Amino acid sequence: MTEDLSTVLEEILATARASQDRGKVADYIPELAGVDPSRFALSVVLADGSQHSVGDTDVGFSIQSVSKVFALAIALGRHGDRLWARVGREPSGLAFNSILQLEHERGIPRNPFINAGAIVVTDAALAGHAPREYLGELLRFIRAAAEDDGIHINDAVARSETETGHRNVALAHYLRSYGNLLNPPEMTLGAYFHQCAVEMTCAQLARAGRFLTAAPGMPRMVAPGRVRRINALMLTCGHYDGSGDFAYRVGLPGKSGVGGGILVIAPGRASIAVWSPGLNAQGNSKLGTEAVEHLARRMGWSVFG
Ligand code: GLN
Repeated sequence: MTEDLSTVLEEILATARASQDRGKVADYIPELAGVDPSRFALSVVLADGSQHSVGDTDVGFSIQSVSKVFALAIALGRHGDRLWARVGREPSGLAFNSILQLEHERGIPRNPFINAGAIVVTDAALAGHAPREYLGELLRFIRAAAEDDGIHINDAVARSETETGHRNVALAHYLRSYGNLLNPPEMTLGAYFHQCAVEMTCAQLARAGRFLTAAPGMPRMVAPGRVRRINALMLTCGHYDGSGDFAYRVGLPGKSGVGGGILVIAPGRASIAVWSPGLNAQGNSKLGTEAVEHLARRMGWSVFG
């Protein structure tokens, strides 16, 4: 099995290196615009605990929306199912930063992974704590999940988004107007921008995702029933308006970020992280998606049998 996996990883690396069309690096957060589009990394932690990686696996990148998975785990830990009174569990079919549905649905965002929903989740995770305390808890959670104390927040990225994140500012105020933001918008946004600015290497991200595999011997950060539900949301909503296509092509739950990272879970089998900064039209890593599609096909990994 492990030998097959190394062959497959080498194939994927060679394909990625040869790829001409790498997508487009996100530039609406200026600090992300300068990332080298030729970077590529893929890392897999198997249920037996072994880790297999190729490419730039030790280069840090901005995990951006992948952080929404960890934030959701913390908010569910605080509020349990009461969280679902404030945010839905349906795919949105719209871009990650869309404001369209919010008016129709009276300030209840479709799901916790679109920006509006993630801002509500961060607001809920704050729950009376100062942003610094929440961010400390988030980092402790991620570090414990990855068993790595070297993971940190990149303040320059957080500052860059604070200066240019006008859509998120609009979303937060709109949510507040419907009474679905309990903290001052600037406070929740400060926490949200810093949460998105968590920086990790591909190898660290694959280890941080192990708790979502629910495999024996993996760190247990949340109850098994909650792991299943987080995976269900990743499968249905983790790639915004590209979620159906990702489920069709890859067949595994995944969460993407505009930094070009994707965390993918093969339940009971593996935690997978991929990073390629160029994005497709839906804002998901282009080569990253192709890489995990290739990996899932060759390894026979799918939640659909
Ligand atoms: N920080 C980014 C934003 O809010 C996260 C979006 C993403 O990664 N898709 O716009």
